[in-house]
Amino acid sequence: MSKADYYEILGVDKNASDGEIKKAYRKKAMKFHPDRNKGDEEAAKKFKQASEAYEVLKDPQKRQRYDQFGHAGVNGGRGGPGDFEDVSFEDIFSRFSDIFGGDIFGGDPFGGSGRGRGRRRRSTGQPGADMKLSVKLSLEEIAFGTDKTLKVKKYTRCGECKGTGAETDADFETCGSCNGMGEVRQVSRTMFGQFVNVQPCPDCRGEGRIIRNKCSACNGQGRTRGEEKVKINVPAGVSNGNYITLRGQGNAGVRGGDNGDLIVLIEEEKHEHFERDGNDIYYNLLLSVPDAILGTQKEIPTLKGKAKIKIEPGTQPGKLLRLKERGIQGLHNSGIGDQYIRVNVYIPKELDEEERKHIEALKKDGEHFDASNAKNREKGFFSKIKDIFA
Ligand SMILES: [Zn+2]
Ligand SMILES: [Zn+2]
Repeated sequence: MSKADYYEILGVDKNASDGEIKKAYRKKAMKFHPDRNKGDEEAAKKFKQASEAYEVLKDPQKRQRYDQFGHAGVNGGRGGPGDFEDVSFEDIFSRFSDIFGGDIFGGDPFGGSGRGRGRRRRSTGQPGADMKLSVKLSLEEIAFGTDKTLKVKKYTRCGECKGTGAETDADFETCGSCNGMGEVRQVSRTMFGQFVNVQPCPDCRGEGRIIRNKCSACNGQGRTRGEEKVKINVPAGVSNGNYITLRGQGNAGVRGGDNGDLIVLIEEEKHEHFERDGNDIYYNLLLSVPDAILGTQKEIPTLKGKAKIKIEPGTQPGKLLRLKERGIQGLHNSGIGDQYIRVNVYIPKELDEEERKHIEALKKDGEHFDASNAKNREKGFFSKIKDIFA
């Protein structure tokens, strides 16, 4: 069994740069990601292949061995086509979230300060603040995943100066206090020795340059208040407290500083019919006494329109019925939940003359009721009920 060429899988040239390889992988991963291709085995296979190819080609040493020796060069002693089955889904997902810039989901978006900051490049200006907002989703949107467009009021890059904060590019001058270094050093001598204290230059705020003529549109800030539409793809199966981090979609930085992140918190709306338990949903169905005794067909709501279910004769209050795989699609393809139907029987509080007669006739029959012998006498009981209600 021969394996497909890694370059061909990603659709790149043998001389492709690291950046081109990453870009090509990202494109394939987006296209074939299991969240977007539910139940599509061909897509899942392509996703795995692309991940495997990227795993090798992103690593200069592995790539060199692969160029020289082909698949044997990177699969080493473990050899053989079976290797590609070893790529577990969890591995793929951790790589996936990484290449898209980090935590797709988690439990605590606001705790901890180390969140992803280290990955940012150093830039001249000051970074923009992160933003947090929540989005309300119906159970149907959660069950199948959804795309949302959010209007976000935030600082956006100034269009006049392109974020520099100056009228023209010639309006900058090197900061005299730090000679353009952006930092100042203070040497202090103590009995323990000499200490050098390095701090951002207070005059240029560490930027190394000063603006002579400020952009009038943003008063030299390089950003203005505005509103932007942000598209967000919510996969199926999210729940209250999950969040999605959109890197760089928060407030624009000051004078070209990095954008902050936009953190979108998921809020699940209460559903008029269903209660959720993980990926399962529960529906309460109230039957009349005759329907419970004689059996019937009932139309009930599901997450995808209505469904007809059969109620067997002699259905007991508290009985749990199940519609398989009519619940919520789990996060990251972790399976589909079920819809449960909790059956209850409505006991009328008021009866008219006619109804009272019927029930009293039943009561006579029930005077010799013996739970241990209930099964044997069910037949007689049912025929009586049928006489009454038919
Ligand atoms: Zn401006
Ligand atoms: Zn300075």
